[in-house]
Amino acid sequence: VSQTSILEAAERERTFIAIKPDGVQRGLISEIIHRFERKGYKLVAIKLVIPTKEFAEKHYHDLKGRPFFNGLRDFLSSGPVVAMVWEGQGVIKYGRKLIGATSPHNSEPGTIRGDLAVSVGRNTIHGSDGPETANAEIALWFKPEELVSYTSNAEKWLYEP
Ligand code: UDP
Ligand code: MG
Repeated sequence: VSQTSILEAAERERTFIAIKPDGVQRGLISEIIHRFERKGYKLVAIKLVIPTKEFAEKHYHDLKGRPFFNGLRDFLSSGPVVAMVWEGQGVIKYGRKLIGATSPHNSEPGTIRGDLAVSVGRNTIHGSDGPETANAEIALWFKPEELVSYTSNAEKWLYEP
């Protein structure tokens, strides 16, 4: 059996993170990736894509009917998005902490949206809001073979055995 992580399977949590078109256009790709990377999370998938409107609707299906839905869908499909999967202990919940509140007016300084964004419709980043959405979003954006299996050298320094 290949050992790709010292973490128990249940702790090897994964979340879907996307840098939205505003983050890409504003040159914030490395800035945003840096924050997940330096925390100690492990990148397991990454690609640059321009989602179609239909795909953007699927991604935001739970928000259909909201007044901002069409604008949100059109914006997500307006340009390149960096789609990623990050892995680590508690990454779903803590990833949302790194991202900050939905409206940058309320996001704390030190968070991605708090430091890098001003308005709710241009808040630079998406992150899954729970385990079910994380699984669904990873499956929507990535084929299973696009998730890369490898051992992170840093892991033994990040986690106790
Ligand atoms: N959004 C918006 N206006 C609103 C609420 C949300 O434009 O009043 C956008 C915003 O970009 C947000 C996205 O819709 O990131 C998805 O909304 P959600 O409530 O899921 O927020 P998130 O999970 O991204 O924090
Ligand atoms: Mg959400």
